[in-house]
Amino acid sequence: MIDIHCHICFPDAYKDVDWVVKKAREEGMAGIIVSSARYDEGIRVLELAVKEKDFIFSTLGYHPTEGTDHEGVLKLIKENKDRIVGVGECGLDYHWQKDPGKRGDQKKIFQKFIDLAKETKLPLVIHSWDAEQDCFDMVKDSGARCVFHCYSGSKELAQQILDNGFWISMSTHILFSKNHRKIMKVIPLERILLETDAPWLSPNKPEPNYPWNIKLSAKKIADIKNTTTEEILERAKKNAIDFFSLNI
Ligand SMILES: [Zn+2]
Repeated sequence: MIDIHCHICFPDAYKDVDWVVKKAREEGMAGIIVSSARYDEGIRVLELAVKEKDFIFSTLGYHPTEGTDHEGVLKLIKENKDRIVGVGECGLDYHWQKDPGKRGDQKKIFQKFIDLAKETKLPLVIHSWDAEQDCFDMVKDSGARCVFHCYSGSKELAQQILDNGFWISMSTHILFSKNHRKIMKVIPLERILLETDAPWLSPNKPEPNYPWNIKLSAKKIADIKNTTTEEILERAKKNAIDFFSLNI
């Protein structure tokens, strides 16, 4: 069981991160990919990945509306390219940004991360809230290896993303959204990736989300795909290891 995207190092997300890691091991997880959205979170993720080697894997990024110091993050990626498993999250967010000029600025910064993913040959973890089409247009011919994290666009675009050789990661949204159940129908078993985006998207509010809640998503997906929860978790784990070249 591998959660390919969560933020357990986001400042103040959890009272006790060590407990989250310990509990994740007890729940039978094989690994967790911890993502970062801003510079200070990136530093914490790197530290945790050193401490919990072969269990915690890191990606360094800059969220289009929550990020800080994108130049610093780009530098951090270059300095740690052999230690991390991906570039991101990064991308475009038109949900929180309506101003066309500022959307243009988001694109300029996103392009720098796309170029760096290509240069370092690391997978690119894309944030694309209400901006899925523009994100896809920017990466389509980039040559970068892409995953659309927390994808919430149309199922038609999901199909195009998959046909282009990219990946879509299914979040715990699937537990409470009809659209995500529709999207799931176009994702074949050999391309399933699971994530929680924890502490967000909790299925058990007011509790935060936890990486092992991908079990709940897997159960829901098993119903849609007419198979077992175990098979979904096993496939998603294998896909995560292959896509991110994890050393597990
Ligand atoms: Zn995220």
